[in-house]
Amino acid sequence: MQALVLAEIGRFELADVPDPVPGPGEVRLLVAQSGICGSELGGFRGTDGLRRPGLVFGHELVGTVEAYGPDVPAGRRLPLGTPVTANPLTSCLACPVCRAGRPNVCPERRLLGGHVHGSNAELVVVPVDALHRLDRYPRPEAGVLAEPAACAVRAVGRTAVAEGGTALVLGAGPIGLLLLEVLRHRGVETLLFTERLPGRVAPAEAAGGVRLPDEPEALLAEVASRTGSLGVDAVFDAVGSTDTRRAAVAAARPGGEVCFVGLHSAESPVPVRDLVRREVTATTSFAYRPAEFAEALELLGTGRLEFHGEVVPAPLSEGQHWYEALLAGHPAGKVVLRPGAHR
Ligand SMILES: [Zn+2]
Ligand SMILES: [Zn+2]
Repeated sequence: MQALVLAEIGRFELADVPDPVPGPGEVRLLVAQSGICGSELGGFRGTDGLRRPGLVFGHELVGTVEAYGPDVPAGRRLPLGTPVTANPLTSCLACPVCRAGRPNVCPERRLLGGHVHGSNAELVVVPVDALHRLDRYPRPEAGVLAEPAACAVRAVGRTAVAEGGTALVLGAGPIGLLLLEVLRHRGVETLLFTERLPGRVAPAEAAGGVRLPDEPEALLAEVASRTGSLGVDAVFDAVGSTDTRRAAVAAARPGGEVCFVGLHSAESPVPVRDLVRREVTATTSFAYRPAEFAEALELLGTGRLEFHGEVVPAPLSEGQHWYEALLAGHPAGKVVLRPGAHR
C-alpha cells in the first residue's frame, strides 16, 4: 500500500510499504479520509517528543471495514465495507488512572499515528473496540472531525460554564473553533474569541463568536466592557503561549474558570497570586474519554454540531505541501488527506 512516512524531520515520503496485518481483536480499514491535526505539526518539526522518523501519522479518520484479524467474535463484526471512524486513543483500562475514570491520561495510552502507524495511508489497523459505525448518521463524512470535536467536548465539560453564561476562547484554529461550536451548542450566550490569522475569523464569527483584539490591554478592556467589568465565566486557552495563558487568567471573573488546552509552550509564568485572590479555578483538558468521543461523533453526525471551518480535501501525495502550508499559517479549518481515493 501507499503511506506517507516521515522520512526525516520535516520531510514526508510517499512510500510503498507492506499492507499492515490485523492482529487478534483488530480490524483493517480502507482509509477514505485522514485529517491533519495541529498536534502533528510539532511531530513534523521534531518538537513534540512523541513522533519519530519512520512513523505514519494520522489519527482523524474515516474509512470502511476491509478485513478482520483473528479472535474477533462474530457479534463484533460489522459487514465488510461498513463506513466507520475510530477512536484513535487506546488506554490500558486496568491501571489506577483508568479505573479512576481518566483513561485519556493513562500512562500506557497509545495514540494512532503517534505510538503506532496511523491513517495517512491506504490501510490502517485499529482495535475492533475503537470502531464507530457511520452509516446511521445523516452526515457520515463529519466523522473525520469527531476526534478534534471530542477534545472540545471534554474541555467544555471540564468547566461549569452553562446556558446563558459567558466564555472566551483564545485562538480560533480547529480546536478553538470547535470549542466555540460546542459552547454555542451548550447555550452559552456571550461567546468571545481572539485570533491572529484573518482567514480564521469568519468561521469563528459564523460559529457565533465575537472577535476581540488579542493585544492584552485592549483585550481586557473589551472583556470588561462586555461583562459589566467582571470578566467571563470561563476562558479556554486553545493556544498555550505565555501571552494567552496570562490573558486567560486576567480575563476570568472572580470565581470563574480558566481551562488550559493549548500546548504551544512548555513553560509560562502565570500570575498565581491573582488566581488566588480572585479564587479563579485553573483546570486543564487533554484529549478525551471514550464517552466524549462518542458524544462528539453523535453531535456531528446528526448535524446538531456544525463545523464552520473550511474543509480542504487533498490527495496523500500533497501531504508534504499541506503540513508546510499549515505550519506557515494557512487558515484552513481542516485539511483532509484522501489516501484511498484512487483505489
Ligand atoms: Zn487530532
Ligand atoms: Zn491505564
